Amino acid sequence: MKQLSLSEKQESLEVLNYQIRACKRCSLSVTRKHALVGEGDVDARIMFVALSPGVKEDSQNRMFVGPSGQVFNKLLHAAGIDRELVFMTNLVKCLLPKNRKPKMDEIESCSQFLDEEISIIHPEIIVPLGYYATRTVLTKFHADQLASGKSFTEINGKLLLLDDKKIFPLSHPAALLYNPSFEPETIKKYKELKTFLYGNLKTRDKLG
Ligand code: SF4
Repeated sequence: MKQLSLSEKQESLEVLNYQIRACKRCSLSVTRKHALVGEGDVDARIMFVALSPGVKEDSQNRMFVGPSGQVFNKLLHAAGIDRELVFMTNLVKCLLPKNRKPKMDEIESCSQFLDEEISIIHPEIIVPLGYYATRTVLTKFHADQLASGKSFTEINGKLLLLDDKKIFPLSHPAALLYNPSFEPETIKKYKELKTFLYGNLKTRDKLG
């Protein structure tokens, strides 16, 4: 898809969001309150891809308003990244009951929406949060070989440079709810993310 103008992005996203809200492609449509659409700057240079809405996000129909969202806000603030200037979305747009893991067919059905979001927003850096989002994004960009044989822990916080895209896998903010001791290290990675936007790209971080 060619790069869209701002108004074309807004129009395309509106059409896509209408489709997401009405989607019944998988059985998660039965248990959700809302199918959550992406949120943020349609012209963003950074796109965060989380796993799925939590209970609060599902009931309030907003991205990152629950406990993970509070952690996410804190990380952005510590790194000096403005939440209004990024785009945030989920790999799976509907709540996963009892926080269970997503099934392959749910990821496959729903990630078609993610493809379209990436085409419309056209971010420079995609930041998949956690294992499932990272695996899916790497596969989409045929970059899984860059990380083959490596665990998520090994590629967490490593910049992957593709031809026209950068992928920077990070752990999901929810991880800090269970392991608060990782906070300083995670803030460091968010600060690195900011430097990628303003030059100082460290090719030593490249994998492969
Ligand atoms: S999870 Fe995705 S594919 Fe499944 S019903 Fe929700 S929006 Fe549709």
